[in-house]
Amino acid sequence: MSSPVPLPLPVLRPAATTPGPVADAPVADARVTTTGPLTDRFGRVHRDLRISLTDRCSLRCTYCMPAEGVPWIPGTDLLTTAELVRIATVAVEQAGIDELRLTGGEPLLRADVVDVVAALSALRGPHGAPEVSLTTNALRLPQLASRLADAGLTRVNISIDTLRADRFLALTRRDRLADTLAGIAAADAAGLHPVKLNAVAMRGVNDDELVNLVRFATERDYEMRFIEQMPLDAGHSWRRTTMVTGAEILERLAGAFTLTPVPGRGAAPAERWLVDGGPGRVGVIASVSQPFCGACDRLRLTADGQLRSCLFARTETDLRALLRSGADDGALVAAFRTCVAGKQPGHGIDDPAFLQPDRPMSAIGG
Ligand code: SAM
Ligand code: SF4
Repeated sequence: MSSPVPLPLPVLRPAATTPGPVADAPVADARVTTTGPLTDRFGRVHRDLRISLTDRCSLRCTYCMPAEGVPWIPGTDLLTTAELVRIATVAVEQAGIDELRLTGGEPLLRADVVDVVAALSALRGPHGAPEVSLTTNALRLPQLASRLADAGLTRVNISIDTLRADRFLALTRRDRLADTLAGIAAADAAGLHPVKLNAVAMRGVNDDELVNLVRFATERDYEMRFIEQMPLDAGHSWRRTTMVTGAEILERLAGAFTLTPVPGRGAAPAERWLVDGGPGRVGVIASVSQPFCGACDRLRLTADGQLRSCLFARTETDLRALLRSGADDGALVAAFRTCVAGKQPGHGIDDPAFLQPDRPMSAIGG
């Protein structure tokens, strides 16, 4: 059993508003563990590390990025592949992380993504190999899916918010629905199962397609999941009043299907239902209206090497600075523990004092 000790504060800092250095800032009254899994003040054990491979993207989804993009992280600030793999190695071998999810931005834009997957899949923690999965817009999957599967990728989550080409263009500002569909088929053919499809439900945009999206998925043995829109867009235009809630999503689906709850959610963000008795399933990720922070086991590593305990965290732990100053593995593990110790009990979106993080979703890693 690990024992709490007062927190040393070498590397916590306020999250950057734009890429670039900012001052260190201690977090008050946090406690760190010195051994055992990454357990925070509320008893949550962290096993899932989401790694952003790049903040750049081939689409411009309205709920994520403005048409002109965002100020990209400078190349010298990005973690090299060796740095990224070293952090993951420490996390898996010494900090109890057993799930690695690659994300972005669009992770398949990283030129050596197959090599990254191979290196991460070769890691061995106390419980064996980590599960290595990917969240992607699928555009490069026709070229990469089978190489990724051969490299050890276990499965994919693919974003597809609409099945209509005109809406896809309006929503992503790119005319690429056919490429996304080809990418989904490529993932399936490469055996990257279960293929999970993600859609952000948006009022007056795609909320009349929820049933069609579930049919599309279940007919092909994919799993459709709907996500409540979160205040993470670069334009800060999110409004709670216009968000389609999980309850509304379920109401719409219940009008077309018989939904039977699937028990055993654990730390998973999605609550799931069997569709018409199964085996098809649908998930709803009601991050805003029904937060699941109490069971959260996730940490996030940005492409510029900042460790975040939450999508909505106001502080980051600068692993890149540690690495580049020659820190040993022990210092890196300690930095993980410091980050986890400062984790807040919840995202606080309902708190009147809530402040949207300055980094948009694309620069954090969704
Ligand atoms: N580019 C990849 C993709 O779109 O799947 C990976 C990165 S993307 C940031 C990861 C996930 O975050 C996607 O499923 C996307 O729909 C979701 N996302 C982005 N902005 C969001 C927002 N404001 N609210 C809810 N989900 C969001
Ligand atoms: Fe790109 Fe994914 Fe953001 Fe869409 S949601 S702009 S695909 S990072």
